[in-house]
Amino acid sequence: MRYVIRQCVDPACRFRYPVDEETVGPDALCPRCGAPTRIAVEFSSTQALLSLHEKKDRTPSPHVEALLDNIRSIYNVGSIFRTADGAGVRRLHLCGITPTPEHPKVAKTALGAEQAVPWRAYNNAVDAILALKEEGFIVLALEEGDGAGQKLSFSEKLSFSKPVADQKPGFSKKPGFFSDAPILLMVGNEIAGIDPGVLALADHRLAIPMRGVKRSLNVATAFGIAAYWMTG
Ligand SMILES: [Zn+2]
Repeated sequence: MRYVIRQCVDPACRFRYPVDEETVGPDALCPRCGAPTRIAVEFSSTQALLSLHEKKDRTPSPHVEALLDNIRSIYNVGSIFRTADGAGVRRLHLCGITPTPEHPKVAKTALGAEQAVPWRAYNNAVDAILALKEEGFIVLALEEGDGAGQKLSFSEKLSFSKPVADQKPGFSKKPGFFSDAPILLMVGNEIAGIDPGVLALADHRLAIPMRGVKRSLNVATAFGIAAYWMTG
């Protein structure tokens, strides 16, 4: 693959788009208007090398794992794998009907991230959470919609590494992420939301503020916001 940016030579069109030069060849026509195109710019090989090296430059981050309960969409699961890899989420726990990377379309959406993030499958999320709580995990449920839980606040991530001893009495009982314990971020079904029996096991409930007309975000998008907030 050799990706370039091509641009339509018709001044009324100027359609600019990325293309694999080895696939289309030098005489590629504009997909919009059919006029000839020219290569506007090529991606440099150093750009690709840099991003490979950046990946290895990992700074220590809080120990966050995530549990996906009954996520229906293979695209959401693939996207969550990719985000988990980027944010430094250590492991994914896939429960109920959630498709696993054994499904080829999950791998296609995850673009290889499914090989970088360890995962485990469970039939029953309640069983999985009870076992993880036994291991010492603090469980945070990410609520769909505006939720009843504590709203995500980006300023609070600064308190993430504060030792519990520094907190006022009772303070550590509110946001669990003030402690050094490993954290389990939990998301539920796209339509039904989090299983009430699973929600009841959460130590804390988080909600992303909704400022527009819609009451919830796509689950993979919500996961991305929460995952970066928690690991940041
Ligand atoms: Zn054109």
